Amino acid sequence: MRLKRLELYGFKSFPHRVEVAFPSGICAIVGPNGSGKSNIVDAVRWVLGEQSPRRLRARAMEDVIFSGSNGRGPNFAEVRLVLENNGQAPGELADLPEIVITRRLYRSGESEYLLNGRPCRLKDIHYLFMDTGAGHRAYAIIDQGEVGSFVELRPEERRLLIEEVAGVSRYKTRREEAQRR
Ligand code: ATP
Ligand code: MG
Repeated sequence: MRLKRLELYGFKSFPHRVEVAFPSGICAIVGPNGSGKSNIVDAVRWVLGEQSPRRLRARAMEDVIFSGSNGRGPNFAEVRLVLENNGQAPGELADLPEIVITRRLYRSGESEYLLNGRPCRLKDIHYLFMDTGAGHRAYAIIDQGEVGSFVELRPEERRLLIEEVAGVSRYKTRREEAQRR
């Protein structure tokens, strides 16, 4: 699956709808300090289901909702991630040319995830990315300083990573679920 487009609305420093396209090849996001480059990376993490505000450089989850100085602005944050599907998506999604993941969070605390426009569970999003090398657990997003921690991983942690790359995590999770029934 390839990242094609990211759409933000009310997320962090983006009060208006913004579309970021990722044409094939290497893309770089450049801009002055504080212009929102890292916020774009946070948006990718967030829409993939990140649950830790700290990993999003926020104190509480609601801090991802844009807050203007005059108190106006959207009352929710929305990020849509458009992926080009190459048949890697599981089940009924396999044949779709595009996979669209949406995450929304309202000031009331209410939140939702959508998969191609249909409400879904966070678990469905995790499952979608399992074994693709992307997703919330994968090393698809590497922060400054994380290269060092990869080198220092314990053998069992490194094994989990290799299982993810090799494509067995999905089956392992399914088996564990079946055994619990
Ligand atoms: P640098 O080059 O220094 O790394 P950057 O381009 O990565 O900068 P970001 O860290 O993405 O910049 O953006 C930081 C800006 O986002 C700050 O000005 C901060 O006030 C703003 N910001 C973060 N959360 C919100 C929010 N909820 N509402 C409004 N602005 C926000
Ligand atoms: Mg930055």
